[in-house]
Formats: sequence, C-alpha cells, structure tokens
Amino acid sequence: MKLVGTRDKSQKVTLSEALLNPSANFGGLFAPLKLPKFDKNFFHKAKDFSYEEVAMEVIRSFDFDVKDDIFKNALKTYAKFDDKKCPLHIEKLDKHLYINELYHGPTRAFKDMALQPFGSIIDGLAKKDGKKYLIMCATSGDTGPATLEAFSGSENVKVVCLYPDDGTSEVQRLQMVNAKASNLKVIGIKGNFDDAQRALKSLLSDKEFKDELAKNELSLSAANSVNFGRILFQIIYHFYAYIWLLKKGALKDDEKFDIIVPSGNFGNALGAYYAKKMGAKIGSIKIASNQNNVLTELFNYGVYDINDKSLVKTMSPAMDILVSSNVERLLFDKFGDVKTRELMLDLSRAKCYEISKIRGFKAKYCTDEECAKFIKKLAKNGKLIDPHTATCFKFANTKKPTMITSTAHWVKFTPSMIKAIKNEKIYDEKAQMLALANEFNETIPDEILSLFDAKAVHTSVVGQDKIKETIIEWIKK
Ligand SMILES: *Cc1c(COP(=O)(O)O)cnc(C)c1O
Repeated sequence: MKLVGTRDKSQKVTLSEALLNPSANFGGLFAPLKLPKFDKNFFHKAKDFSYEEVAMEVIRSFDFDVKDDIFKNALKTYAKFDDKKCPLHIEKLDKHLYINELYHGPTRAFKDMALQPFGSIIDGLAKKDGKKYLIMCATSGDTGPATLEAFSGSENVKVVCLYPDDGTSEVQRLQMVNAKASNLKVIGIKGNFDDAQRALKSLLSDKEFKDELAKNELSLSAANSVNFGRILFQIIYHFYAYIWLLKKGALKDDEKFDIIVPSGNFGNALGAYYAKKMGAKIGSIKIASNQNNVLTELFNYGVYDINDKSLVKTMSPAMDILVSSNVERLLFDKFGDVKTRELMLDLSRAKCYEISKIRGFKAKYCTDEECAKFIKKLAKNGKLIDPHTATCFKFANTKKPTMITSTAHWVKFTPSMIKAIKNEKIYDEKAQMLALANEFNETIPDEILSLFDAKAVHTSVVGQDKIKETIIEWIKK
C-alpha cells in the first residue's frame, strides 16, 4: 500500500518515503486512502495472540514496502518495557470502566509505544541505504524524552529536540537536558509548544537549511506524530485493547466499547479512529481535553477557531496545544484532499474553519480544578493517575464498556499530584515523590530517580530566530 498527500491525493509515496520525509505537497501530511479491514474470524483467533503477533498482523495488513524483518526488530524494543511480553498494561477500574496504561516504557509516557519501534525502523532504513539522518522533534514534554531515548547512541541518526522553555514539567525537562549521547542535541526555545511545532514545520521545508544539512551529508526527517510511522504503532494498542476485552469476556459478541483519549496533537485518538475503521468494535471515541479546548469545540460545534484563543498553561502540559496537527488526517478521511486543503488554508489565513459535525466522536474538557479533584478521588481508591489521564474522568460515568487511555506515569508530574492529593507545595521533588510512592506501595523507576543527581548536558535556551543557526553550528562540530 502507498500513502497519499492529505492536500493532494495524487501524490503517492511508500511508507519508507513517508518515514524519511513526512511533509507532503502543499504543506500536507501522508495518510492512507483506505484502511485494511479485519473480520470477526480474525478477532476470534486473535484472542490467543501475543501483543507482538497482533502488531505484526496489523502491520502486514497494510502491505507496506518495509520488510517484515525490520518491523520484527522494531517490536523487539518492547523488551525494554516493564513487562517484556506486553508493552501495555490493562486493568479493570470499575464495573464498566477499564484503563489501558501505555506508559510502561523507558521514558514513562505513551510516546514510547510508537517512538521505540519507530527509532529502530529509521535506524534500520538509514543503515540499509548507507545514509545519515537528522531527525527533528518539537515537544510539549513527552515526545522529546521518548525520541532522545529511542535514538540514543545511534551511528546513523542525529536528533535535535526543541522544547518550550518553561512549558514542561521538571522531570520532563531533566529527561531532555541530561541526555548524554553525542548524537543528541536539545534546545530550549523561548515560546510555547505551538511555537516549537511551527519552527519545526518551517525548518522541514526550509531549502537553505536542508542544503546546509546536505553539505554535511545529512537528510532531514521528523519524529512528531506528523510522521505516519508513529501513527501506525498507535493503531495497534487500541486494536489490542479490543482483543483483550474479548479475551476477558468483557464484551459480548458484536458489543462495542468506547475509548476515552486525553488529546493534544490528536495522534493517539487518530490511532483509535483507524483501529475502528479496521474492524475493532469501537463505539464512540471520546476526546478529553484540558482548558485548551479547541477539540471540544470542533467535535461539538464543527468549528475550529483559534482567533480569540491564546495557549493556557495547565497541569497537563503535553496537551497544551492549539494547533492540533493530526486532525488533518481525520478531515482528509471524511472530506477528501480538496476540502482538506481549503480548510487548512482557512486555518492559516483566518485562524478558523467550519465543517459539518463529525459522527462517532464525543468531546469534553476539564479545568485544572476538575483534574485535581479526579486525581484526589482516584487516590482515595488507591490508584494514582497523572493529570493527563485525569481529564478522561469527565467521561467516566458510563454504563457501556469503556477503555480509558492512560498516557503518562504520575512521577513525571509530582508537584501537581502533591497539590491535588495533599494540597501541599513542592520543597523537594525527589523526596516527596518517594514519599507518595511509598504511601501507595509503588516503586519509582530508577531512570527517574537518577535524573535528580545527574548534571545537565544541554543548557542552551534560544529565541526563535536563533534556532536554525544553533542547529547548524552543532552539526558542523
Ligand atoms: C502527547 C501526550 C498527550 C496527547 O497525545 P496526542 O497524541 O498528541 O493527542 C496526552 N498525554 C500525554 C501524557 C502525552 O504525552
């Protein structure tokens, strides 16, 4: 199968082309024109499959140009997760409510689910072609650490990570600025995530920048969820969640379940949408947001309007986003390339577009006060959930089987946890994190604890006009 441009479907590329060059014509992304479909028979058999087997079935169904061996190797990265056999952990919370914990990888956020195998694939393709790559990423907090970890020590790939100074949690920042391997460069920028993402997009299509990289024998690509390579792995865990529910007898034949997704750039939710189209019996996809509630308005009123909005800093920083990139792939699927191009043009010119209501989605948002209440309530029941996952509980009152998608480990957000549960301030993050873990009989992963004692490697914080030259200077070294 080939992927097509969301703003020009006559542009067709292979998966490897899309992985290594994710910008499509007219500023679009790459997406499938049609999705492969699985029937009841498959799901019946799949109850006995391991996570890896399910993953390979999903991947093979796309019939991409990348060889099975490369994918199989990529899935081996899941051996680094808490449970070597299955990267995620699902449990029952309540009568109809389940939680799909996707944060059991090395950097403790769901971004590892896609970026670990993605890193291995890019590395494999680079080796095969004898080429060297510069992979860029802009992060609202979790993509950065996960990308750096995925490529740490690679001989064929260098990584530049842009993060908004003052826009991430302390643990997220430490995970980035402590990154030691010499192929990694971390740059703090003055601005927010939207600024970082805009800087990334403009560099991806900057000819002068690419020429400069070419002189140093580097080709450019991106690790953000604008890259379809990440979306592919984000379909699989929603698919697996369906199979898990079937296996446990939690769903009757043909019964559907709802999925709640804490959303920012809409990559995770898009994975659920694709999984549904591929045959997983998903009912509603419920989009949970924080006060940056552009998606709530889009799904409830059909309006995406950022004219009078400015980014609000919340306790769920990975969702502090106004320009949600992956919505474009949904628009393409629903309305086609011509309309998508028009809508995206409206967004860049008038900062607003309108569409007819999209069925199959529900959307709500949470204030920080509500999130804190949910965290406290769950803690009373003995369960610690992070502030992003907490936004899902606005939907939790349900009589249908429902899967909450849990996106990060709470240790990344100790100050918000302590404030929500104990109404206390942070005076010593490490000590308070350990105390909270102790109280709930949990252990803190070593790679999180050691962050506090390490020395920062990356100290530069630059203005947006200095990003390009900072990168070029580093490349030349
Ligand atoms: C990235 C992230 C999100 C948002 O995911 P999208 O795919 O961008 O919608 C939510 N929660 C956490 C913890 C994240 O890291």
